[in-house]
Order: sequence, then C-alpha cells, then structure tokens
Amino acid sequence: MTLHLDSKLPDVGTTIFTVMSQLAAEHGAINLSQGFPSFEPPDELLDRIDYHLRHGANQYAPMPGTPQLRSAIVDKTQRMQGRLLDVDREVTVCTGATEGLFSTVQAVVRPGDEVIVFDPAYDSYEPAVRLAGGITRHVPLSIAANGFDFEVDWQRLRDTINDKTRLIIVNFPHNPTGAILSAADLDRLAAAVRDSNAFLLSDEVYEHIVFDGNEHQSLLRHEELWERSFIVSSFGKTVHATGWKVGYCAAPAELSTEFRRVHQFNVFTTITPMQLALAEFLESEPGFYESLPRFYQDKRDHFCRLLEGSRFRFRPAKSTFFQILDYSQISDESDETLARRWTEEIGVASIPLSVFCEVPFTGQRLRFCFAKDDDTLAEAVEKLRSL
Ligand code: PMP
Ligand code: GLN
Repeated sequence: MTLHLDSKLPDVGTTIFTVMSQLAAEHGAINLSQGFPSFEPPDELLDRIDYHLRHGANQYAPMPGTPQLRSAIVDKTQRMQGRLLDVDREVTVCTGATEGLFSTVQAVVRPGDEVIVFDPAYDSYEPAVRLAGGITRHVPLSIAANGFDFEVDWQRLRDTINDKTRLIIVNFPHNPTGAILSAADLDRLAAAVRDSNAFLLSDEVYEHIVFDGNEHQSLLRHEELWERSFIVSSFGKTVHATGWKVGYCAAPAELSTEFRRVHQFNVFTTITPMQLALAEFLESEPGFYESLPRFYQDKRDHFCRLLEGSRFRFRPAKSTFFQILDYSQISDESDETLARRWTEEIGVASIPLSVFCEVPFTGQRLRFCFAKDDDTLAEAVEKLRSL
C-alpha cells in the first residue's frame, strides 16, 4: 500500500522568489526579481569569517546566540532605537528572519486564533500561521491620495481586530511597497491594540534601508508597543549577505522565553562562525549601519534617473531595495503574466505584487530589486525603456 500524505498546505505552490529566479536563470534574464545584492559583503567581515572557520568556531553556538553577537545587537538597538535590551533575556539570534517569524508564530498562535497581516504581505507569513492552526485575516494597505504610495488603513485595522485576534504581523519598512511608519503611526497602532489580546510581530528586516532623511520607527521605540512585541530582523540585508541566514528576535523577557521554547526545537542554534564574525565586524565598524541609507538611496536614484522618460510611472521608493513600477501605460496584462513574459521575452525578471494579496488590489505594478551594480541596472533599464 502506498501511503498518501494529505498536504497541510495543498494550495501553496513554490514561493514566487524561487519561481522567478529560476525563470530568469533559464532565460538568461537580468534578475531584478528575488531581493539579493549583486555585490559582496565587506572584506573585513569575510576575513573575520575565514579566521573563525580556521580557529575552532565550528561547533554549536549557545542556543540563544553567542554572547558577543547578542551584545552587538544590544549596543546597536540602544544607539539607534534608544532601548537597552537585556542581553541574556531579551535577544535571541535566529537562523534568518524567516526562522524568527516562524518560531514566533508557533510560540503565539493556537488553533482557531486569528492573525492579521497587511496585504501585500510577505509570503512566509500565512503558511506559518496556517501550520499553527491559525486563521489569517488580510487587511489591505490603502493607496494614498497621490495614487502611488501605500499606507495603513487604521480604521480597517481597528474593524478587523476582535476577541480572537492573537497576533498582528507588521512589516515596516514594507516589502514590497517601501511604505514606512511615522512616529504618529506607532501611536495609532498602540491605540488600535490597547484593549485587545493581540501580540505584535514586527518584521523589520529593512530597518537600515530608509531614505530621504526619514528615520525607521521601530516598535522598539514605543514602550506600550514593546511590551507586546516580537521584533525580528536580519543581517542578510544589512551586510549584503542574504545567503547567511542570520537574524535575531528581540522581545520582552517573558515573550523571549516562549520564543526560545520553540526556537530551540526548530533549529536549536545559528551558524557559529558567522555570529562571531558579525559581532567583531559590528564592534569595529559601528557606523556601518549609518552608511546604508545613502548607499541604497544612490542606487535607487540611479535606477529612477535611468527610467525617466520611459513609459513606466513611479514614485521613488521610501525604503527597502525595491522599486515599484506601474506599467499601466504599456500593457493591460496581469502582473503575474507580464512578469513571466518580460523575463522570457525582454530579459528582465521582476516580482508581481498581486501574489502577496488575498484579493489583488495593487493594480498593474511590478517590483524591481535595485540592489545591483550600476552596470546591471543600466543594462536592465535599457531593456525596460524599449517597452
Ligand atoms: N521578511 C521580509 C519582509 C523579507 O523581505 C525577507 C527576505 N529577505 C525576510 C523576512 C527573510 O529574511 P531572512 O533571509 O533573514 O530569513
Ligand atoms: N526577501 C526576498 C525578497 O523579497 C526574498 C527572500 C526569499 O527568496 N525567500 O525578494
């Protein structure tokens, strides 16, 4: 007898990032779909990894992360977000933000609980909720008065929160739209959750990539929000090393205890030489984070300047390394169809926005990753300008 496995996620296909990157490779297209830099992490950091690989850092790190990296995270969050975390009880190093998100959801969500996400929502949230037996409630971001930007519909959020709401997943700076929160938005969020039993899971992986002089408003900054929050971040975007999968989860001690209960049996721990090297690098280059907004803003500006005069409509991204382009003057095809067709025929791969939405509402827009060297961006835009 062949045993049949009844899928727990029967309607979930392969993630769009893998699908589009594979398609780009098959067709030799320039890959501006999946978000990863075309450049390398800093040399000094790579040297530290070489060193640790050869000097005995090849066995398990402590379950919550090495004390050195936790300390570096504490220093950074104190300096940039003004919160002094307890290094032993409030920070856990995890295996990429993905693990931090998954472990948080498993720690918090019980069967029948409702979890709110904002659409377009990063694609790992809902499967994690479903595997925990939870029900995802989608609150679409609304399109701002300028017809381009996305923003939180606070009324809709308040209307969606109810007695069953166990968790709200927020992701600002927002992938894919680049939307950011203001300090006043943190107060709005606090007012919305004040009388609820909802915890917050804040995915802040783009925390250091915010443009035009704006500051990242971390939930770490807000006392009332902090008390019910798990804040997850990643070094992948920060040090140009998405393949290392090192992240962290900051949460009040009681919540961190629950996080670690899951984390220890999910992955147990995170790769040791990377943790040691990252800690030393951050200690010796504390200003590295501050250089990132300028670095990526220059790339954004370069990409947008090249696109001027094309038939795409856009507003420069406020954050992240993604630019949204509206193609409504070029085609009336769906974003999914077009993302594929342009990968195959034009040779530039992008990500459709509608796949991140329960009810597609984002219109004719595609996401392009500009974390690429100038020549790659120029080559891609030349193709896009021919449209
Ligand atoms: N959240 C968001 C919004 C992301 O864009 C990504 C991908 N980079 C992740 C989580 C996952 O991060 P990591 O690669 O560290 O698991
Ligand atoms: N976060 C990256 C993106 O948005 C991709 C991560 C992944 O491939 N899972 O493109």
